[in-house]
Amino acid sequence: MHHKIIIEPFRIKMVEKINMTTEEERVEMIQKAHYNPFLLTAEEVIIDLLTDSGTGAMSAEQWAGMMRGDESYAGARSWIRMKNAVQELTGYEYVIPTHQGRAAEHLLYGKVGGPGKVFISNTHFDTTRANIEYSGATAFDIPIDEALIPSSEHPFKGNMNTEKLRQLIAEHGAQNIGAVILTVTNNSGGGQPVSLANTKEVSDICKEFGLLFVLDCCRIAENAYFIKHREAGQQDKTYKQIAQEMFSLADGAVMSAKKDAIVNMGGFLALNDKRLFEECTTVLIITEGYSTYGGLSGRDMEAIAIGLQEVFEHDYLHYRITSTTYLGRKLNELGIPTIRPIGGHAVYVDAKSFYDHIPVHQFPGQALAVELYKLGGIRACEIGSVMFGKTAEDGSLIPAKMELVRMAIPRRVYTQSQIDYVVEVFAELRNHKEKVKGFKIVKEPKFLRHFTAHFEPVG
Ligand SMILES: *Cc1c(COP(=O)(O)O)cnc(C)c1O
Repeated sequence: MHHKIIIEPFRIKMVEKINMTTEEERVEMIQKAHYNPFLLTAEEVIIDLLTDSGTGAMSAEQWAGMMRGDESYAGARSWIRMKNAVQELTGYEYVIPTHQGRAAEHLLYGKVGGPGKVFISNTHFDTTRANIEYSGATAFDIPIDEALIPSSEHPFKGNMNTEKLRQLIAEHGAQNIGAVILTVTNNSGGGQPVSLANTKEVSDICKEFGLLFVLDCCRIAENAYFIKHREAGQQDKTYKQIAQEMFSLADGAVMSAKKDAIVNMGGFLALNDKRLFEECTTVLIITEGYSTYGGLSGRDMEAIAIGLQEVFEHDYLHYRITSTTYLGRKLNELGIPTIRPIGGHAVYVDAKSFYDHIPVHQFPGQALAVELYKLGGIRACEIGSVMFGKTAEDGSLIPAKMELVRMAIPRRVYTQSQIDYVVEVFAELRNHKEKVKGFKIVKEPKFLRHFTAHFEPVG
């Protein structure tokens, strides 16, 4: 018999208490947090969809691995297991362990970046862009045109615009390009997948001009799921084979293991270029830790090695992608506009269209994130002009291309009834949406302002 319902392919053996709060309490708490959900404490949140980064639940196998963790300073067994797992998956010879993805980015882009250098990506993730700009280089996002139309049903909206890639190379000169980066799936662009065909095209162009081609492979398994089920000719491959093919097209990869390695901390940089590896290793040892642990404990590396296997299991991936789609579909049925099709790790609500009475300089995404918290204790993340907006010389806002609120789904954490609760909160929120007002920023740091900025309601 074929069952329609896709159940969680695991059962729960340990539970974590959720602190149930009232709307009254939350109105006060979000004000104390300066209307920035990042400044709330976990105690104050009921359903935490702020990020899928490091928030997953590890398996019994991973916890068993934690006990096996070898904490030797140099050459630990756990490091060898992690290195083997990364080499087997990526095919790259040289692996550098780091405490998270951004540390790997800092090593690599600090080395190949610097003033005058140009980086090109389908979309740079926020920490990627920050590391590139911090080095003095410039970052260009060139997603395909469909990626910026939330309602477009293009199956691979994560793809890079290869025509623009050629233009940018011609404009800036191949010798000035630090790297070309494909973010899979495209996190900031809606968790949308990149096709194998597009990866091949980008790879060919990089080879033609001798450019370094890097995969930001945080969600490589989720991306493989979409390729297998959407891209012609890929149905008979396993998810892992598809991922391996993608890696074989690039020169290296940066990964936050907090995503598709289903661990709470970790990352790596993997490369084929020995000299680059050695240069990055020198910086690693100065800033992160010795080359056989980076910033990680042996037990962390053990869990990564196991997670990198588990994430490619069909039952897991099928549940993962269909459960994200479930939330998106329910919201669409309520008339809540989201990026379509629903991506792999998150549902992105189109706040600009939902709160079309709030101008972008009053941050409709921030307003929606605050409403979700007040009404339901749900924590979500603005991905719009708070995160990516810039300030013009006259002090006015140069807005982001889209005003989104990302509801990221932690891996193996929430059940369907908890997701149904989120849907119910949206149904409620829809009823008084005209009354919701925007926000202004009253305090912000120079880089990555969304993490720590303070807001005040407008009017
Ligand atoms: C999370 C993430 C990063 C950064 O990784 P951290 O582990 O948070 O430092 C980089 N790129 C993408 C696409 C990500 O999702």
